[in-house]
Amino acid sequence: MPQIEVGILGATGTVGQRFIELLAKHPWFKVTWLGASERSAGKAFRDATPWRLPAELPADVAKLVVETAAPGNAPKVMFSGLDSSVAGEVEKAFAAAGHVVISNAKNYRQDETVPLMIPEINGEHLKLLDRQQAERGWKGRIVTNPNCSVIALTLALAPLRRFGLTSTLVTTAQAISGAGYPGVASWDILGNVIPFISGEEDKFEPETQKILGRVVNGAIENYPVVVSATATRVPVRDGHTVSASVKLDQKVTPEAIIAAFNGFRGRPQELKLPSAPAQPLVYLHEPNRPQPALDVDRGGGMAVSVGRLRACPVLDYKFVALGHNTIRGAAGAAILNAELMREEGLL
Ligand code: NAP
Repeated sequence: MPQIEVGILGATGTVGQRFIELLAKHPWFKVTWLGASERSAGKAFRDATPWRLPAELPADVAKLVVETAAPGNAPKVMFSGLDSSVAGEVEKAFAAAGHVVISNAKNYRQDETVPLMIPEINGEHLKLLDRQQAERGWKGRIVTNPNCSVIALTLALAPLRRFGLTSTLVTTAQAISGAGYPGVASWDILGNVIPFISGEEDKFEPETQKILGRVVNGAIENYPVVVSATATRVPVRDGHTVSASVKLDQKVTPEAIIAAFNGFRGRPQELKLPSAPAQPLVYLHEPNRPQPALDVDRGGGMAVSVGRLRACPVLDYKFVALGHNTIRGAAGAAILNAELMREEGLL
């Protein structure tokens, strides 16, 4: 089968470089186009930006000339790691011109015609794309990825819907890789915890409700979970830790919850997609796990590790979830969306 040519918007950034790394050996996709700002345009990629990953920069990508982030000669399928200050306009221009944009930026996450995908949970949300084309008049499409910490929380909450999940209190300990490069100044983060990440806490409730929702008459009916979130930045390189308490309508044993975590599967596992972890949620019984230093690469950096399930004296249960390997997982999740879309005939 011939490979599908893909482009990367924001190719010079932290997320963009992860796309390049992960797509280098992808069985279905081949990077043939790179786009970034005027600062980088016109330069070979290797001269446009320092390569910041331990894996070697693929030789064929190193010599690609970076283009301005405008549609024209770009391939149909585009991954976006654009800065959110420009992602709105640029992604819209690409979608209008007929491209399929799979974005890590926040700009379209709450658009009611744009799927906010965690393919293990809500593959059916791709149905929104029919409406998107009709209402927006774009020849192409936009599909988005959630915030990194929301992915960890929501994957852990998804199997709890069957027990009548109604609310959750969440505190995160988020890695510095989520802040991009150069990220938080070492003087601020070393030996410290910062109890504020701009704009982060406000994303938890709407993103979680939308992701866990279902499609009814062509629109998302949000899942009615109340989310109270506190987001903190901690001196960890990769992997966001989420400590959550949950309220459940039903009486349920810890064993049943652990079985629900471990048994959770979605369309990517059914279809055995190349980037899908075999088990998206893994419960660890050791009392001191999960830990970013030990567990962040589970499932190729794409699985969520859960542990420390115990009774909560305020709500019903509490647990700790560790998200995927921050930026590798975010780019990997966008690639997983593209794999699912290909299988559904949407690329
Ligand atoms: P970054 O390292 O700052 O990279 C930003 C990219 O945008 C660079 O390629 C930059 O190109 C490009 N860019 C900036 N201004 C531009 C303009 N005017 N026109 C065209 N391109 C422009 O950012 P990042 O950390 O990779 O984050 C990228 C996006 O992903 C952000 O929206 C961020 O919020 C999101 N993100 C999502 C997740 C997730 O889990 N979903 C995780 C992390 C980040 P130059 O190098 O040429 O300036």
